[in-house]
Amino acid sequence: MKIKQNFHIHSQRSCDSACAKILDIIAEMEEFGIEEYGLTDHIHTAYNLPDIVSARRDYLASRPPANFHFGVEVSCVDQRECDRVAAGDYTAWGDEPVYGFRDMTDYTGQMAIGITPDEIRELGIEYVVGGVHWPLTVSEDRDALIRNYFEQQLFLVRHPSVNVLAHPWDSLAHAVGNWYKYRDREHIDLTAFRFIPKEYNDALAQALLEEGKAAEVNLAVIGGAIPEIREYLLKLFAGWKQKGVRFTIGDDLHNAHFSKELFERAEQWLAEWGFTENDFVLPFQQNLK
Ligand SMILES: [Zn+2]
Ligand SMILES: [Zn+2]
Repeated sequence: MKIKQNFHIHSQRSCDSACAKILDIIAEMEEFGIEEYGLTDHIHTAYNLPDIVSARRDYLASRPPANFHFGVEVSCVDQRECDRVAAGDYTAWGDEPVYGFRDMTDYTGQMAIGITPDEIRELGIEYVVGGVHWPLTVSEDRDALIRNYFEQQLFLVRHPSVNVLAHPWDSLAHAVGNWYKYRDREHIDLTAFRFIPKEYNDALAQALLEEGKAAEVNLAVIGGAIPEIREYLLKLFAGWKQKGVRFTIGDDLHNAHFSKELFERAEQWLAEWGFTENDFVLPFQQNLK
């Protein structure tokens, strides 16, 4: 099993700590023998759309080779967050709403992404990976949070602009407990994944198949420090594979350089779980049904 694609890469234009330079990304992906790859900086709400404009400028200035693509990573947010950004309603926040409004208590339950089809077209965005990055509920109850994560993932899979479900169930461990209030403290529940109901995973597989969308094998997540989470996810993906779900691979680079070791370890794990190159598709390939 050779990894031939990498469709989840952050550059220094991403709103977070990501720091890779475009020319390094191109040089290293070529060196790794990656055949198709793409940039996916974060777009959370319209507030940080200028980051994507900057990423696009860097991308074009790099004279991108034909196998280097331009994508984005969207988050799931509450419609009220988009409305507040549109109305400029954040002066009292005291901080820039780069990540939306994470101390909100009045969630509408109406989910949204922070970019429109027109913006996707105008910015030359070839594909969109969508991932859950925080709870959209004030509940601190573990089961309620797991349900909220499930609903967000389902929303992303069903969203017409989203091509790939990024890092399934990632960050759930951080969500349990009051995510915002305790974000700087020890509250991480590394066992949260054990409580994910099988029905949720079956429903996600069903939605991926119906929508013809791919699920992402995220190397940063499976290569993380917790072997139980890797085992859980690889087993889950192997089960989805049996049902016909197809996948993309993304290493979710936030560092300045890629890790060859991570790619090699991931190739081994994927081979152990029965994956082959044929299980992976290009994210902009429409209609995988
Ligand atoms: Zn993400
Ligand atoms: Zn990412």
